Amino acid sequence: MAVPQPVIFDLFHTLVDGANPERDRVVGEMALMVGVEPAALVAAYHATWRDRMLGWDVAETVRNLARRLGGTPTEEQVARAAAHRRELAARLLDGVAPETLALLDALRADGRPLGLISNATAETAEAWRSSALARRFDAAVFSCTVGLAKPDAAIYRTAAERLGVDPTDCVFVGDGADGELGGAAAAGMTVIRTIQHSDTDPAWDGQPLTTLDELPSLLRGE
Ligand SMILES: [Mg+2]
Repeated sequence: MAVPQPVIFDLFHTLVDGANPERDRVVGEMALMVGVEPAALVAAYHATWRDRMLGWDVAETVRNLARRLGGTPTEEQVARAAAHRRELAARLLDGVAPETLALLDALRADGRPLGLISNATAETAEAWRSSALARRFDAAVFSCTVGLAKPDAAIYRTAAERLGVDPTDCVFVGDGADGELGGAAAAGMTVIRTIQHSDTDPAWDGQPLTTLDELPSLLRGE
């Protein structure tokens, strides 16, 4: 019997809440730790999303951005702010709903290989390893680790390769941030949009999942 179709998930706003307001609040608190204006550091975080998700580490980000804003933080202050950001990442992953973990277990029980592709910064990739999500996945590809980001076809190919399958065999499930749905389709994957956490890409064609719970029966063609 052929291996059941592998499923590759996005992370934020797909498996866990993206928590955008909480992210901004935490960066504002980090600003006070390194002696710069909170709103300015929040804006600098947003402006450097691409650099951060392609590989800046947590302390490097704090140090670089604080200096750009005229701050002169000590390494101790930088370390404290970085730790605050790491705690946020761990908290967001720990916030995964029990229903979501149960869904992943159900897909695994169907024999489906599971993958993850996340445009994410270093602290998320670090927190992932000790999260309850990690052990449910056969492969997890983070932009900050591979230096590639969705919607680049290469990151989808990397995930499929790590699962030992062809991209055209895979289903990709995501909310649609960063053009990820079009990228997955261009890589040859079957695309399913979810709006459980965020209606991010309403122009995407086709019926979205209201909750991930609908996924197993959809995949079985029921
Ligand atoms: Mg997302």
